[in-house]
Amino acid sequence: MFVFKSIELLQAHLSEIRAKSGAVGYVPTMGALHQGHLNLVEASKNKGCYTVCSIYVNPTQFNNAEDLDKYPNTIEQDIIKLTNAGCDVLFLPDNNEMYGVNVVASKYDFGSVSNNFEGALRPGHFDGVITIVSKLFDAVKPDEVFFGQKDLQQCMVIKHLIKLNYNHIVMNVVPTKREDNGLAMSSRNVRLSDEEIAIALNLSKAIISVKQSIEAGIEPELAINKAKDEFLNHPKLKLEYLNLVDADTMTEATKLEPNRNYAVIIACWCANVRLIDNLLLTE
Ligand code: AMP
Repeated sequence: MFVFKSIELLQAHLSEIRAKSGAVGYVPTMGALHQGHLNLVEASKNKGCYTVCSIYVNPTQFNNAEDLDKYPNTIEQDIIKLTNAGCDVLFLPDNNEMYGVNVVASKYDFGSVSNNFEGALRPGHFDGVITIVSKLFDAVKPDEVFFGQKDLQQCMVIKHLIKLNYNHIVMNVVPTKREDNGLAMSSRNVRLSDEEIAIALNLSKAIISVKQSIEAGIEPELAINKAKDEFLNHPKLKLEYLNLVDADTMTEATKLEPNRNYAVIIACWCANVRLIDNLLLTE
C-alpha cells in the first residue's frame, strides 16, 4: 500500500494510475479503523476500483472539544488493517495540508438534510463535514465514493453535495456493520467500559423495536414511546432523539406514505460517549 501525506504526491500517483487502469474508489475515514470501515474498502475493491482510503481527524466537524481530544488514534494498526484489506493507497494529510493556517469550515445550508437532528444538535458539524469532504474530493478526484449507512444523515448530506458540485461521482452507501450483539461498530465504542457496552446495546434494541412495531402497523408515536420506556429508561443513558424520519429529507414522519424511504434514527449518550444508530424500514 502506498502512503501519501501530501496532495501533490497523491495526485501525481493517481494520475499515473488513471492513465492505465480503471476507476478510483475513495473511502474517507477518521481512523481507529474497525470492520465497518474495512467493509467500505471491500465494497470499493468489489467494484473493481483502485482504492484510496484517507485517515484524517477533521477538527472543524467536532462541536465538542473533549470529543476531539479523546478521539482514538491507532494509526499503526490501521495501516496493517488497510494493507490486509487490499487498500491501494492511504492518504494521511495533516491540518496544514488540508486547511493551511486557517482551520475553519465554510457555511452550508442544505435545508432539512443538514439542519435537522445531527445538524441541530451538533451546531457546525455538517459545515465541517461538507468543508473537509469537498477538500478531500478535490484532492483525490474519485470516480466512486463509499460511505457508511451508520451515519445516515451524513450520507444524505454528501448525496446533496455530490448533486450540487460533484455530479460525476458515484455515491455508494454501505450497510452498517454490527457486533454480534447488535451494537453498531464505531471508533468511539473503545471509550465504553464493558458495563457501558452492555447498556449501549439498548440503542439497537430500541430501533429494532420501533421498526418492528411500525411494520406491524402500530402508530409511530406509540411505537417510539414504547421503545423509550422499555429500553432507554436507564440512568446512564441520555436520549437526544428517537424518531421515524423520511430518509431522503431527514424530516420527522408521523405516518407512512407509499413510495417513500423511511428510517428509525437514534442519538443517545451512554455515560459520556455520544452514540448514533439507525435502521431503514425496508431492511
Ligand atoms: P468515521 O471514521 O467514523 O468518520 O467513518 C468513516 C466512514 O465509515 C463513514 O462513511 C462512516 O459512515 C463509516 N462507518 C463508520 N462506522 C461504520 C459501521 N459500523 N458500518 C459501516 N460503515 C461505518
